[in-house]
Amino acid sequence: MQAPEVKVSDAEATPSIETRASSINRALDQIGDMWTILILQEIFWGINTFGDMLAATGASRGILSNRLEWLQQIECLKKAPSPDARVPVYRLTKKSMELYDNALMAIVWERQYYSHPQLDSIELTHSVCGHSFWPEMVCAHCEGRVAWTDVSYAPGPGAGRDLRGIKTRRRASKTIADQSGGKALYRNLTELLGDRWTSNIIALAYHGLHRFEEFNQELPVATNILSDRLKRLVDHGLLYKKPYRPSVLRYEYHLTAKGADLFPYFMTLLRWGDRWCNDGTGPPIEVIHTPCGKPLQAEVRCDHCSGRLQAREVDFEHLA
Ligand SMILES: [Zn+2]
Ligand SMILES: [Zn+2]
Repeated sequence: MQAPEVKVSDAEATPSIETRASSINRALDQIGDMWTILILQEIFWGINTFGDMLAATGASRGILSNRLEWLQQIECLKKAPSPDARVPVYRLTKKSMELYDNALMAIVWERQYYSHPQLDSIELTHSVCGHSFWPEMVCAHCEGRVAWTDVSYAPGPGAGRDLRGIKTRRRASKTIADQSGGKALYRNLTELLGDRWTSNIIALAYHGLHRFEEFNQELPVATNILSDRLKRLVDHGLLYKKPYRPSVLRYEYHLTAKGADLFPYFMTLLRWGDRWCNDGTGPPIEVIHTPCGKPLQAEVRCDHCSGRLQAREVDFEHLA
């Protein structure tokens, strides 16, 4: 049988690369950009007009309009008239509300590795059990904690290849820490991972990839981009370099504890991608929790009562 004809004109119109189908990649292609993460973060904590978002995120008007447009296009935001009919407000949708677990895991990681007043003064209270708590990710089946060393992967029903646009936005030169308006509770995470190639590399590291060529094979972006992102991950202590061929000095990239501890964050992205960025064929990759041998259903729970966490049942309090 003959292979279907490739439409060269289409391929040329949008530069793209082919990567293994992955719900994490699909999620990142939708919401993995720094400004998009920041906007969603601010909306989660109640900032919902254009003007307030402008002040909170420090984005230019052009960037903010562009990302708000995009978020509406992918049905993560809805524009609605405000109750007092002045300026319109942006509201979360069912799709974006399910990123709540992802936001909680971002906060957990940020607090573990960074310290800044807005973050340090936060106390979370779970209204269901009435206790202050900390979110944790567990396997719904065996209730064990979820770590990257405790999973294995198998091709799922939707396994295949994805064609992905490579029009990449330059990394923002402005740092979020310079801004004072917004909460930016997980500003370091946003700055580090608010670039989908950087996030893609971490996700590949969880699959056991170590060498430049291995990363490049799975992520065929320009080699200078790949080098730049690997260096950035080493500089920020998420990966470390380990020589592997003493005769000609070559390095492998391995996860540090700091890089490994991002795993729950990525698992929430994977779940969200499985659910909302599905092409109808089912999950491309199945994750098995090896301690219990069951497909991993990673749940974010209250460490006091073990209940699942819903945005409306969690109070954020600044103690300072
Ligand atoms: Zn388990
Ligand atoms: Zn609780």
